[in-house]
Amino acid sequence: MELKIGWLYPTLMSTYGDRGNVICIERRCQWRGIEVSIVPLDQQTQATAFYQVDLIVGGGAQDRQQEIVMRDLKGAKAEALRDKLESGTPGAFTCGSPQLLGHYYEPAFGQRIEGLGLLDFVSKHPGPQAKRCIGNVVFEITASPLAQDLRAMLGEPPIVIGFENHGGRTYLGNIAPLGKVIKGYGNNGEDGKEGAFYRNAIATYSHGPLLPKNPFIADWLIQTALRQKYQTEMVLTKLDDSLAWRAREAMFKRLELPSLH
Ligand code: GLN
Repeated sequence: MELKIGWLYPTLMSTYGDRGNVICIERRCQWRGIEVSIVPLDQQTQATAFYQVDLIVGGGAQDRQQEIVMRDLKGAKAEALRDKLESGTPGAFTCGSPQLLGHYYEPAFGQRIEGLGLLDFVSKHPGPQAKRCIGNVVFEITASPLAQDLRAMLGEPPIVIGFENHGGRTYLGNIAPLGKVIKGYGNNGEDGKEGAFYRNAIATYSHGPLLPKNPFIADWLIQTALRQKYQTEMVLTKLDDSLAWRAREAMFKRLELPSLH
């Protein structure tokens, strides 16, 4: 078995450590004997390369880099990304990259950046004087069927621990939030919603990076990618995640939240 991971604009969109998500998927595949290759999807790439990947990961970026990416991600590449996500290719998109998948992003300075309009939300930066949303974030995944899949995998509610750092605020239209905020700001610090979920695409404000801190999401992405590619149900071998769970327990204690178990 083999998976190709498409990594959106690795040079321009790696400001916030989200490269850890790519490494996490890569290692968790290798530990199980699944071959994996990482395909950068960037300015040098043709749109056809987008069609060849089985899973897509996108990280955060600063406003200026997002503008450059959006200029490049027009036409055939935008079409390819849209086709992939519409057809159920799984993806994990953090902060700056979901802002690009929505209708638009209004940066702190300058013109509105038009997004792909694939996810029904808008993101706006309230201006350079506004407080950034920075800090640890904890939320429960509630989106269907993801929440049910994860609950079955874990035997408990899927609680995500991450770190957010964004100026932009996201307001959802007709799309399911990824989860509900337990601690932190989430999409906008107002409505208690965090991220969004569409087909098999996870959009979130959570860095951390997300996947090493919440390895069950990495496994869900791998499992979904394998199912899409090989059209058969795969059971992944269990890995020893005791360190990650200990780190999560420590974080819960620090944030003065009730224990996970
Ligand atoms: N530039 C965006 C914002 O500040 C995204 C930041 C990020 O990706 N962490 O909202």
